[in-house]
Amino acid sequence: MSCQLIDGKAVAAKVRQRIKNKVDELKGQGSVPGLAVVLVGDDPASAIYVRNKEKACQEVGFKSEVLRLPASTGEEELLQLVQELNAREDIHGILVQLPLPETINEDKIIAAISPAKDVDGFHPVNAGKLFIGQKGLVPCTPKGCMELLREIAYDLTGKKAVVVGRSNIVGKPMAALLLQANATVTVCHSRTKNLAELTREADVLVVAIGRANFITGEMVKPGAVVLDVGMNRLADGKLAGDVEFSSVSQVAGWLTPVPGGVGPMTIAMLLSNTLEAFSYGAE
Ligand code: NDP
Repeated sequence: MSCQLIDGKAVAAKVRQRIKNKVDELKGQGSVPGLAVVLVGDDPASAIYVRNKEKACQEVGFKSEVLRLPASTGEEELLQLVQELNAREDIHGILVQLPLPETINEDKIIAAISPAKDVDGFHPVNAGKLFIGQKGLVPCTPKGCMELLREIAYDLTGKKAVVVGRSNIVGKPMAALLLQANATVTVCHSRTKNLAELTREADVLVVAIGRANFITGEMVKPGAVVLDVGMNRLADGKLAGDVEFSSVSQVAGWLTPVPGGVGPMTIAMLLSNTLEAFSYGAE
């Protein structure tokens, strides 16, 4: 059976073009979506992520504002800034780049963001809405995975989906989205027994654990759709997924490569969420 690669870069480009076209329309009506990204401290990886987000916003024509604060910023000061952004009419989306310095309680900051502007979808209100099937802002990476499944016109109804990883930003929201799409969902984690037995049953396998090349061909059902969320930097500087490409591509029916699979979808979905948050403002 030959495995088809899902080209996340191409799908993300399509999404971005769609958003750009919408923004061009909105420009004619006088207002565009605005995203504020808050970066505290000088973590080099975070600085790169923030720069990429800023660039993506500019490319589609959003108003983009990056607030760079020193690592010494206090929790109260950051809470105050979030409140100011919550109140601004030209800012529709607020993203506080994680991780924050240890002196700041991340949960407190996330909870301070207005749920209607929470474009990361991490606020407990949005997490709850997702779980009970109400409309809200959905975390970008799992939302991107669903978009990839839509792209290959995959009908999840009645299919067995297995999610490996149960983080609040990927695994749990992914499971909720798959469930909403009528899949039968199993969530695995580091305490799961006989993991390979479970993954081998999956028609759709989503892996988000942060361990390079962990899922091998013998853990995958022939013909399965495999979405590899993992992004692991190897000693030689190369990027590897959580899925061993060489063996899994011999077995799977569909597979996302790393890089160029799920990764590009995350920023595209951030843009999509910002556009959605803008539309709430207009409601
Ligand atoms: P976390 O570290 O928050 O969560 C990892 C999860 O994997 C945990 O639930 C953990 O289980 C589980 N896990 C760890 N080891 C095993 C194992 N041996 N067997 C089964 N489950 C295991 O990671 P994230 O969810 O934040 O990220 C996961 C990966 O996805 C990372 O590589 C990250 O870089 C990548 N990522 C990629 C994004 C993208 O845009 N492509 C966006 C976000 C993340 P337990 O809960 O029991 O500890």
